[in-house]
Amino acid sequence: MLSEFRFPHRTATLRRLLSETEHPVDAMLVTNIENARYLTGFTGSNAAVLITPDDAVFITDGRYTLQASTEVTGFRHYIPAVGTRMEEAIVRQAKELGVRRIGIETDSMFLTSYQRLTGGLDGVSELIPRTDVLAALRRVKDDEEIGAIRRAIAAADDCFEHLRSFIRPGLTERDIAWEIEVFLRRERGASKLGFDPIIGSGPNSALIHGRPGDRVVGSSGGTEFVLCDYGCTIDGYNSDITRTFFVGGEPTKQQAEMYSLVRQALEIATAAIRPGMAGREIDKVARDFLTEAGYGEAFAHGLGHGLGRLVHDHPALGTTSEVTLEPGMVLTVEPGIYLEGVGGVRIEDNVLVTEAGCEVLTRSTKEPIILR
Ligand code: ZN
Ligand code: ZN
Repeated sequence: MLSEFRFPHRTATLRRLLSETEHPVDAMLVTNIENARYLTGFTGSNAAVLITPDDAVFITDGRYTLQASTEVTGFRHYIPAVGTRMEEAIVRQAKELGVRRIGIETDSMFLTSYQRLTGGLDGVSELIPRTDVLAALRRVKDDEEIGAIRRAIAAADDCFEHLRSFIRPGLTERDIAWEIEVFLRRERGASKLGFDPIIGSGPNSALIHGRPGDRVVGSSGGTEFVLCDYGCTIDGYNSDITRTFFVGGEPTKQQAEMYSLVRQALEIATAAIRPGMAGREIDKVARDFLTEAGYGEAFAHGLGHGLGRLVHDHPALGTTSEVTLEPGMVLTVEPGIYLEGVGGVRIEDNVLVTEAGCEVLTRSTKEPIILR
């Protein structure tokens, strides 16, 4: 007899979503490793999951026999002989289960895998694109996921406090990036950074996704923006924060105005978030505000994105985002103004959509900070 599922509601919801659609499938094949981890709790690098209304098969390879036996409960385990291709193993299980229509994740499957599967299942089963189901499932976070995200955000907040005392003129952008990495991994137990930190000083802060380089902070001689965008992964979930410091002295009038407008855009967009709104409506709140202030063109990216197992998780929060916000979604809100030759300001918080509106999970202050 199988032990209980580790995340029973995730598999149950997946089964419900599969049955509720117009074109139901007999089974869902999950090959995206993040989705397989989400359903099973498995932390290895190779797995597939086949879920039918009354069966659930977990497939991996011989390297993970022991690991899977402790991590993955509630699934029947299938570990084929060494040298068996994953697709071969899937075909065998699909035939054994007798499933005719199998949902697959077309936005993350390699064409070679698809060809091997269709070849193996020829005349037996049909593969139906059903990527949307897992996306819909993962958009809304459960309590366990929200707990992990909160821990990752708390570590990023602690790192911000550390940066306030660490950043000063004379350091390079790379020094700051390395300090973030060391702090989050050694001092806060992050398993990794969710992405390479984006550190831009002076004119480099206008590079929306700039890479930290050898530029020396403060080398212009005047007050500079130092934009720091980073996050870390804890228990498989991510944080993503941006704060922009003034380094060297008092901000110029233009710098102070840019900072104040970005902060206001963030605050009014955050205040507008509530269930039932479309993603693009939230984007519009911040975009209209910055456009009216004369910086519409300078806000050259979407307002934010979902946050979870991936740094850019579902849903996107941009000008074309049709997704309807629901309680349990975790989003970033990150307006910015970027001016070539001058520099850029971005401020980014992480929020949890609630029944009434949203809870701001990021605690780091948004007050202007001057470092000398
Ligand atoms: Zn970010
Ligand atoms: Zn972000």
